Amino acid sequence: MDCKSSENIFLGKKITSWYLLNSRKLPWREGKNPYNIWLSEIILQQTKVVQGISYYHKFTEAFPTVFDLALADEQTVLNMWQGLGYYSRARNLLKTAKIITNDFNGEFPKNAKELSKLPGIGAYTSAAIASICFNEVVPAIDGNAYRVYSRVLGISKDISKYNSLKYFKDIAMNYIKEHQSGIFNQAIMEFGALVCTPKKPKCIICLAQDNCYAFKNNRQSDFPVKTKKIKVKERFFQYFYIINKKNEFLINKRIEDDIWKNMYQFPLKVIKNSDKEQSDFMGYKAELILEMNHKLTHQKLKIQFYKVSLPEKVFRKIAEREDYLVVTFDDYQEYPFPKPIDNFLKTI
Ligand code: SF4
Repeated sequence: MDCKSSENIFLGKKITSWYLLNSRKLPWREGKNPYNIWLSEIILQQTKVVQGISYYHKFTEAFPTVFDLALADEQTVLNMWQGLGYYSRARNLLKTAKIITNDFNGEFPKNAKELSKLPGIGAYTSAAIASICFNEVVPAIDGNAYRVYSRVLGISKDISKYNSLKYFKDIAMNYIKEHQSGIFNQAIMEFGALVCTPKKPKCIICLAQDNCYAFKNNRQSDFPVKTKKIKVKERFFQYFYIINKKNEFLINKRIEDDIWKNMYQFPLKVIKNSDKEQSDFMGYKAELILEMNHKLTHQKLKIQFYKVSLPEKVFRKIAEREDYLVVTFDDYQEYPFPKPIDNFLKTI
């Protein structure tokens, strides 16, 4: 049952009252400063609220304004982002801060169309910022919104199809006009995060029961409809933890257009088959000391860490010849590392 009318009482009237009474107190909700809202939205893309809060505090303390952030260097920002993953977000954060500072005199554009031209700000984030900060009447459709609209209204449109965003936006437009747009968008998302959750939605305590298609038809798990599965590629990484007698080790910067760009790593060999173990590194014994799997949205990494102890002369020669950096356990944290390497260094 697809429904485009604005007759649903829950979406038409109750949802914002529910939000005003039940929303979580979160630091970025204390005001409508676009810098703070933008920062929180970028941090919360692919990150849970509980984890995002400490990063939000860390960034707003280090960079209270967009001007402060624009002056930061990329290594510092990546370092502070460490642990959140999806590092392109951090790189885009810095790019956008520089654009806002240099081209917009520190003022964020006041509508979703202009905001969406900035690096790292897509359809959802631009709508969220424009509606929350500038009251633009524009629906913000994230995963929570897809779920709430499709369950309540019984929308069977496949959300993995390219035209579904426009379809859901059109439906949301029927309701958003009845409310303050920023509050309405946040209410839908908060309701999806707290009540109409992906698994085990809290239907028993839900005030939408009488107005919910999925509940009335016991079809909660059928919505949202999503057919396209993300293709996950398997990759095999072999890292060489090369040390000398002083416990110094070698790192280099990832410069290719690939995951973890501009972060640091041990010397790496990418292989085609995980069965191929290494016994040496440039003729010196390589000892396999740790294996781990690491999941990203589109990639599944199988990582092996090898320890290679080198005589001082050879260590220095390799460091010079290959343009590696020599670091110690006292200073390596000045460099941003992908999570698997950071975890490895914390465990050895
Ligand atoms: Fe979601 Fe259940 Fe409420 Fe319907 S009744 S909106 S499925 S929590």
